[in-house]
Amino acid sequence: MIPPGLYPLTLEGELPDGAQFAFSQNVLVQNADFPYDPSLQVDPATINPAITVPEQELWESLGEPVTPEKMWKGIFASPVPTDFKDCWTSFFGTRRSYNGGTYDFFHSGLDFCGQTGTELYAVAPGKAVFVNTLVVRGGVVVINHGWGVYTAYDHLSEFLVQPGDMVQPGQVIGLGGSTGRSTGPHLHWEVWVGGVQVNPEDWLARAYP
Ligand SMILES: [Zn+2]
Repeated sequence: MIPPGLYPLTLEGELPDGAQFAFSQNVLVQNADFPYDPSLQVDPATINPAITVPEQELWESLGEPVTPEKMWKGIFASPVPTDFKDCWTSFFGTRRSYNGGTYDFFHSGLDFCGQTGTELYAVAPGKAVFVNTLVVRGGVVVINHGWGVYTAYDHLSEFLVQPGDMVQPGQVIGLGGSTGRSTGPHLHWEVWVGGVQVNPEDWLARAYP
């Protein structure tokens, strides 16, 4: 959501012998021309900052821990049973407005069509770290894949994993629904890397080493 322009990027680390290193350069942030969705009509409780702000803080904290074991390998599997490319209903990054308000929001995941009761699958090996019901996101499952990579599945009607369960790709982790801030049954699916929401399409198309 930052304006286009040059921004400093700095990497700092420690080598195995204990030596410190750092690297800095400016990075050009360009306008990605994300489209604007028509304003969505939702339950006002799901855009009340008294609810959305603490839920957002909780949500961001879930994707922060970086665990040392890399569990995913290769391209992520589809989280839904259908040929998923025919089933994308809203893309990452689109600008969002609710109930006629300003376009202060962006779409932080990729939406898949589905019905209440559609089986939803883990996309890669990992560990379920959060299984709960939130006001905005509805029924959610968050899976830690290691090295700071997480996937999240929102608006579920039923959970079929518990916190701490190890999961495999293709394993049913829950059933689709329309819980939380949702205008109909669908899966909202997110990918987090290093505490940042990234475009999930990349992880369905290419294998990250
Ligand atoms: Zn969504």
